[in-house]
Amino acid sequence: MRTANVLVLLAVVLTCASATVISRGGRKIFGGRAVTVEAVTSPAVHAEGPHWQAPFLFYVDISSNSLQRLDTTSGNVTKWTIPPGDAAVTLAVPLEGAPGRILVTRGLELVEFDTESGQVVASFGFADQGKPGNRFNDGKADPAGRLWAGTMGPEDPGVGVTPGQGALYLLEQDGPSAKVSPVDISNGLAWNSAKSTMYYVDTGTGRVDAFDFNVTTAAIENRRTVIDFGAQNVSCTPDGMAIDAEDLLWVACWSGWKVLRVDPSQGQVVSEVSLPVQYTTSVAWGGDNLDDLYVSTSKRDLTPEQQQQQPDAGSVFRVSGLGVTGLPGQSVSRSNLVAKRNI
Ligand code: CA
Repeated sequence: MRTANVLVLLAVVLTCASATVISRGGRKIFGGRAVTVEAVTSPAVHAEGPHWQAPFLFYVDISSNSLQRLDTTSGNVTKWTIPPGDAAVTLAVPLEGAPGRILVTRGLELVEFDTESGQVVASFGFADQGKPGNRFNDGKADPAGRLWAGTMGPEDPGVGVTPGQGALYLLEQDGPSAKVSPVDISNGLAWNSAKSTMYYVDTGTGRVDAFDFNVTTAAIENRRTVIDFGAQNVSCTPDGMAIDAEDLLWVACWSGWKVLRVDPSQGQVVSEVSLPVQYTTSVAWGGDNLDDLYVSTSKRDLTPEQQQQQPDAGSVFRVSGLGVTGLPGQSVSRSNLVAKRNI
């Protein structure tokens, strides 16, 4: 475990109108709304999976196989390498009613981690059997507290991810069951406030899709496209995702220096927030009023020169003053999980 004081590396106060571009540099006056974009952690390599549980923001660094926790009261960050420390940790979702117990992935396994002891205390099984080069990626609990977590194929630096090798799983009492397959790179998930629609990003498709969602049975059907980034000339690929209280989506825009607000009813980007780093990976709402947008970012694919130009790449950023509130992150209900074995 390592505890370090957080470095607040950037505090750019900008002003903007609602539903307009927020520039990443200088001070601009559009409509009088002050928006602050600030790095609130020191850089990880590939930060991902932010999840708010007051007063903490949990996230992972996939590249260092670690769970990290920002205490937004003190600004301290605590880091745990998930034992044995040799597998990618790609998501972190708290267990309901169990302080300090976090569901995380390690490689293709879903485990329960105890932040008090620093130990894995239970395993809930493996996914993608017979595909040892795969790994879990993004995941989230649905409004009924069931964990959905997706996988992706082998990743070859400089070449990319082998397509069509992953799946989106629902973790139920008898283990993972594939709900969407094949998948290229399973990423963002979100559910609307009526609990009737599930939004999903398979990054390989370049789209945000929607399904009709049955909150009682977890059935999904009627997959359709919400927005196709390529068709609309959106110059990035969709990654992690969150939803706000107006049922509009906030999508991390990988390689695009920004996050996007998407109106699913229109199938269009309605506004965007620029960041001083190229690779945004995911977003989550947090803060006492759920009006802060936390954005995880990456420096994994930057050259040394680019890292010098983007010294905050890999940090988690907080965007405040948007005038928008989010839906809270959902914890996983233990009633939906039975340990396959205790370790
Ligand atoms: Ca992701």
